[in-house]
Amino acid sequence: MAWDYIVIGAGSAGCIMAERLSRDPKSNVLLLEAGPKDYSPWVHLPLGYGKLFFHEKMNWRFDAQAEEALDGRVDYWPRGKVVGGSGAINAMVYARGLPHDYDDWAAAGATGWGWDDVAPVFDQLETRVDADGKTHGSGPIHVQDIRRQIHPITRHFFTASDRAGYGRSDDYNGSDPIGAAVYQINTKGGLRCAAGQAFLRPALRRANLRLITGALVQRITFDGTRASGVTYTHGGSEHTAQAAGEVVLCAGAVASPMILQRSGIGAGSLLQSHGIDTVIDQPNVGQNLQDHLGVSYYFKSTEPSLNNQLAPLWGKALAALQFAFARRGPLALSVNQTGGYFKTNPALARPDIQMYFNPVTYSTRKAGHRPIINPDPFGGFIIGFSPTRPQSRGAINISGPTAADAPQITPNSLSHPDDAQTIIAGGQLCQNIMQTDVMQALVKSPLNHADLRGMTADDLLADFRARCGTVYHANGTCRMGADATTSVVDPQLRLHGAQGLRVVDASVFPNITSANTNAPTMMVAMRAADIMTGAPA
Ligand SMILES: Cc1cc2nc3c(=O)[nH]c(=O)nc-3n(C[C@H](O)[C@H](O)[C@H](O)COP(=O)(O)OP(=O)(O)OC[C@H]3O[C@@H](n4cnc5c(N)ncnc54)[C@H](O)[C@@H]3O)c2cc1C
Repeated sequence: MAWDYIVIGAGSAGCIMAERLSRDPKSNVLLLEAGPKDYSPWVHLPLGYGKLFFHEKMNWRFDAQAEEALDGRVDYWPRGKVVGGSGAINAMVYARGLPHDYDDWAAAGATGWGWDDVAPVFDQLETRVDADGKTHGSGPIHVQDIRRQIHPITRHFFTASDRAGYGRSDDYNGSDPIGAAVYQINTKGGLRCAAGQAFLRPALRRANLRLITGALVQRITFDGTRASGVTYTHGGSEHTAQAAGEVVLCAGAVASPMILQRSGIGAGSLLQSHGIDTVIDQPNVGQNLQDHLGVSYYFKSTEPSLNNQLAPLWGKALAALQFAFARRGPLALSVNQTGGYFKTNPALARPDIQMYFNPVTYSTRKAGHRPIINPDPFGGFIIGFSPTRPQSRGAINISGPTAADAPQITPNSLSHPDDAQTIIAGGQLCQNIMQTDVMQALVKSPLNHADLRGMTADDLLADFRARCGTVYHANGTCRMGADATTSVVDPQLRLHGAQGLRVVDASVFPNITSANTNAPTMMVAMRAADIMTGAPA
């Protein structure tokens, strides 16, 4: 049979696309996912994050290329390989981003994606749940205010932010989100509530939607420049599904450009070097890679933290009981409990830093092949930051013609000179917060770095280069824009120069949003489905 829609990748965007496109019972939808079904309890338990971070079956566990700017280090790039995608293994911080992020998208050629266009889509996506349980809206994704559940040690971060002059915000997703804030997380009844749970699971009851897991997509097939189907490996053999309507590529910012390249859409020279016939010579595929880099400063604390609850056996048992009976406690939360948007200089028009203040420290040890993350057996906390809008641009390319060939991830970290300046300013912001009396009283000793108090601008930058890492927000590699000379897809997310093919995932962002990228990705999918089905915007 030929499918009306073939959706590649059951991640944050793909689960939403499959649900929306199969609402019409006359449309037959095939959803192909390389990973397994999301039966593992670690996917649904919020603190299961630590168990999935290096998981051999549910995580692609990519490595970026070694970079001189990071002292020759290789950065680890986890990505979800399970129904739900990276949204099934992520830390669940729910961040819309800032209005100007989207106005910048529109200015960059993504007509119809400005803040006024996308704000109503976020409203449709969400049910906002106040700290007292009162709800607003009726969208599938529940966004929890966890201010009554966060660890008491986090109160010092708010006091310190006030004393250092940065203030606080009552609503990180609200109209004035600058300053220390409690993170909102996408959970419902103490369990992860992401695109897999909230969209795909109920839709799988429909007879016109078929999900095939363990289906590794090799390439999209073409009839001229019209997408005609998808070739994938399943159960050891190769299959081709025919598309009567459209192929919707939702494999994420790492895999989507690679699937295009394997299918003959990419820079002609790259394709030739791997023996791939060119369908469309499109050098923008895989370019414009953007990401947030972050660094964390770990401290031993003079007060107990989440470590004291999670490290001992009795603490784990108590947390398990709390979760089992009340769906509350540390297991029902993200490790990222507080943070916020900060301006390192009050004169700045936009916040340039996202902060994290986590009431926990942890160590990673090897157990066989798989590293295991464990909370430290003493009180401790983390303060860390990421520049919100880095200017450096990298690339993702295939290293061979098959899906078994690893991606070549070249982030080009710190290749733009402005980025180094923002990193120094971010380090100084942490210094300002940490030198308040309240923080000085909280610190027993620094754990994984030199004493922040003595660090110069050069030291802060050198330390960042030596220890920073991705905070997993890759995007932009099939960017949306007005024409094929500068972008890969048009504002309707159709691939320039092709027919019957759209890309819908984090790869289409023209520019990175100022914070975590899952909510913006889900918004992109909601809006794409509206565009495709003709639903009123
Ligand atoms: C460890 C981690 C922590 C994060 N924390 C947060 C957070 O707290 N808050 C936040 O907002 N964002 C967070 N993010 C980022 C966020 O989860 C992503 O931006 C978002 O999930 C991207 O969605 P996507 O649909 O573009 O891709 P994905 O969700 O990654 O989906 C892509 C899907 O395609 C499948 N696929 C790929 N290749 C193939 C193939 N060849 N054949 C078949 N299927 C394929 C994958 O297995 C996957 O299921 C985090 C990400 C990670 C990895």
